[in-house]
Amino acid sequence: MMGFEKASVIIPIFNEADSLEELYLRTKAVFSGLGLPFEFIAVNDGSSDLTYKRLLELRARFPNIGIINHRANHGKSMALMQGFALADGDVAITMDADLQDEPENIPNLLEKLDEGYDMVIGWRASRKDPLSKRFVSGVFNVITRRLLNVHVHDINCGLKVMRKDLYKRLNLRGDLHRLIPAMSQAAGFTVSEVAITHAPRKYGSSKYQLLRHRGLLDIISLTSTLAYRVRPFHIFTEIAFIAWCVFSISLIGLIFTLLIYHDSPSALYVASPVLFFTSLTFLIIGTTFPVIGLILDNLLVHFNDERWRSSLVKEVLPPESC
Ligand code: UDP
Ligand code: MG
Repeated sequence: MMGFEKASVIIPIFNEADSLEELYLRTKAVFSGLGLPFEFIAVNDGSSDLTYKRLLELRARFPNIGIINHRANHGKSMALMQGFALADGDVAITMDADLQDEPENIPNLLEKLDEGYDMVIGWRASRKDPLSKRFVSGVFNVITRRLLNVHVHDINCGLKVMRKDLYKRLNLRGDLHRLIPAMSQAAGFTVSEVAITHAPRKYGSSKYQLLRHRGLLDIISLTSTLAYRVRPFHIFTEIAFIAWCVFSISLIGLIFTLLIYHDSPSALYVASPVLFFTSLTFLIIGTTFPVIGLILDNLLVHFNDERWRSSLVKEVLPPESC
């Protein structure tokens, strides 16, 4: 039916022992229904509960389960990266272990992917999480949509399907798993979404609490790294030019104040110190910014190297040999 030969299901797991068997069996039923062979890659991210034991028991019953064990807890992004490295399906499915994003949604996502997209992400249209979590997520989504220009409703949904040429080149670190659709789209891959059902967490507890400031910091970091088309030297020098204008205006203001209003105490003790420090500040910005820009430009020369450039190319059609 669909144009896929093998699926790799990748599950990051941190203390989720109780849900694993149900998760595997429901996933297996879905793939039997599709008639699509699959491997189930469980990445145990330093769990301290019975996760590892349960995985070994399951693997003895179902040999298509693979296990990757982290020695310590390294977070969801790193767990996903380990799974992507081991996987060899022409399509990868990432899913949380807590059964909130139900495996029964996978066929809809694959069907959408088969329309030609590189990635399809779930959209938890009626999300079963506490209001506080939904609120933080909502703010995160709005900021990401604005800053990174990704038009999906639910950028951090754990359930995603993606083609091999995309998942093999993802480079996640820190908490970047929340921005996978933005990173993929920026690299020229096409991203779509499908509404999915969502269930409340049945076992265990959430590993990501409310304070997601790192996610917000990641948006800023990604926005700046994606701006590799612009030269830092140009941007910083343009800012410096504005600083020079402000410096000139405040200096002229200072000179006029001292020449014309030298008898007025408010001019001497309020206006002139303010103008003096304004001009000094902008003088410093105007002189240092071009230097910072130049240094950054030099640090970024690797963007010109061969490997970087070839990673931007989707396909090469060489000339016919004569
Ligand atoms: N997870 C992980 N390593 C971590 C934290 C979480 O592998 O350090 C896994 C976790 O077991 C789950 C998924 O990442 O399968 C999402 O975590 P969780 O459901 O706790 O986050 P939430 O959905 O509450 O944001
Ligand atoms: Mg969850």
